[in-house]
Amino acid sequence: MDEIFKSSFSNLKENLNFINISSKNMTLFEWKPPRSFRSYILDVNFVKEYATDSIFFHLHKGNSKLVHIKKGDLIYTIGANNNIQYQLLEAIIEYVDYKFNDIYDIKVILSFENVSTNIFRNFSSIVDELLGDFRKLDLVKTINARCRVCNKILPIFVKKSFIENSEDFPVPLVYSHKGHAILLFIDRNFDVRGVELVNTTA
Ligand SMILES: [Zn+2]
Repeated sequence: MDEIFKSSFSNLKENLNFINISSKNMTLFEWKPPRSFRSYILDVNFVKEYATDSIFFHLHKGNSKLVHIKKGDLIYTIGANNNIQYQLLEAIIEYVDYKFNDIYDIKVILSFENVSTNIFRNFSSIVDELLGDFRKLDLVKTINARCRVCNKILPIFVKKSFIENSEDFPVPLVYSHKGHAILLFIDRNFDVRGVELVNTTA
């Protein structure tokens, strides 16, 4: 296993800024690394405007990044520094969503007139646990692809659900890095079938 893969997981908590779970009106749960007192409420409010059901959004903000998705009544947002690839952040959100819904009956809780967020407080220890052990969950694979601009073999994170839920193969994935981008084609065995240099605009 290569170094970047290992270090992304072993320092996962230090590389994350926050995980937020909100309803339309309020924050239900927020996780932050130990000793972090920053508020990300502006990020979360911004995200709420754009959140679209079941679509992952990626946002670059200077030296940090955000991933968010709306799933039913909930909006999940995760912030991290640029050491962590988007696919890994998506995999974390997917697992947090699974756990959150497994533990709490969200539909019922949100139907109460006054929702006390105290009931979600214990979820912090669950998030701590899952981040500490994330590699063991085996939700993400790394694949290696050669970029002919960098002239390097790059380790690229791919969440398993992305490949496993795919209907057509090979699956395309754009990896944007250092001002340019490559398009990878990945087969159902997580092998790279081709790499192309692609133009991008935003
Ligand atoms: Zn490159």
